[in-house]
Amino acid sequence: MSHPTLVIKIGTSSLTTRGNLALATIGALVKILTHLRCSGYRVVLVSSGAVGVGCGRLNLKERPQKMAVKQAVAAVGQGRLMRVYDDLFSSLSQPIAQVLLTRRDLMERSSYVNAYNTFQALMDLGVIPVVNENDTVAVEELKFGDNDTLSALVASLIEADWLFLLTDVDRLYSADPRLVPDAKPITFVPSAQFDQLQIEAGTHSQWGVGGMMTKLTAARIATSTGARTVITQGKQPQNIEKILAGEAIGTQFEPQPRSKNARKRWIAYGLLPMGKLYLDSGAVAAICQAGKSLLAAGIREVQGDFTAAEAVQLCDSEGREIARGIVNYSSNDLCKIKGMHSQDIASSLGYVGAETVVHRDNLVLTV
Ligand code: GLU
Repeated sequence: MSHPTLVIKIGTSSLTTRGNLALATIGALVKILTHLRCSGYRVVLVSSGAVGVGCGRLNLKERPQKMAVKQAVAAVGQGRLMRVYDDLFSSLSQPIAQVLLTRRDLMERSSYVNAYNTFQALMDLGVIPVVNENDTVAVEELKFGDNDTLSALVASLIEADWLFLLTDVDRLYSADPRLVPDAKPITFVPSAQFDQLQIEAGTHSQWGVGGMMTKLTAARIATSTGARTVITQGKQPQNIEKILAGEAIGTQFEPQPRSKNARKRWIAYGLLPMGKLYLDSGAVAAICQAGKSLLAAGIREVQGDFTAAEAVQLCDSEGREIARGIVNYSSNDLCKIKGMHSQDIASSLGYVGAETVVHRDNLVLTV
């Protein structure tokens, strides 16, 4: 059996100490990743740090707020970051590659497939791709926003078996351990308990600290596409090997079975939903339990401004997302035909459109 594919994400807080690169941590990480690669694992590193390193190079005391300045600083930092990685990996004879992605690259089906093929070719060549967002050209509305999300989307794209989110805490706790002494460590999250955890996280403000909410969102994406996800301490990269050997370190999230349909994974996570359709309970049951397409009759509310062929989220009456799909009508048309039976649609719109609003083939359950 071939070895699993691993995506390891490391953030700026683990990579830097007081504005300088934490070379000891990076060196230890490089050694572990090279060792894993040599043992047969396919390894992808998602590394932040471009803006942080750029700030250091330009002697900026604070991270810039203005978009153009941040993008310029990232351009300065990315090259320096790669130089450090290349020097360290080269000392162990491990080739690496720089892969800079934008959200747009995953939205286009052809560039999504292309990116998949390139990652596979790199890994077949024994290379460790080092991925970051292409901060210099990413447009604000179309940014991944954070590298936790980027790493989960990369894990989904390349069909990774594991996603490691390296951070500055050792694992999740039921509450902030600095404030609540009997806060319980969370070592394992079965997929059936994920919803509850996300609800609890939303009500504990301290979970917002250190990007825990974005980590949970990333874990949700990655586990739903079949990658076991782990949140663990970035300063101890050796934990990655221990976790792979079965030790209960960090917080581990149980993966769901991976859909064999790569196009459906692209619909769920490559595309960026441009709106929401709120459905009645009959439509929710038809979609979730009977595997049916979405018809106009089941739509209660339309939110957002989108054209036909864009992606939308399908939500139940409480606003919880149940599925995503590519819509056959624009938001304007859907506002006119929501709740209508199929035979009335043509006269309302003045043309004969698709029979379904979202066809089953273009629909993916996300619960
Ligand atoms: N892409 C950004 C950088 O390299 C980091 C985004 C993040 O840390 O989540 O600086």
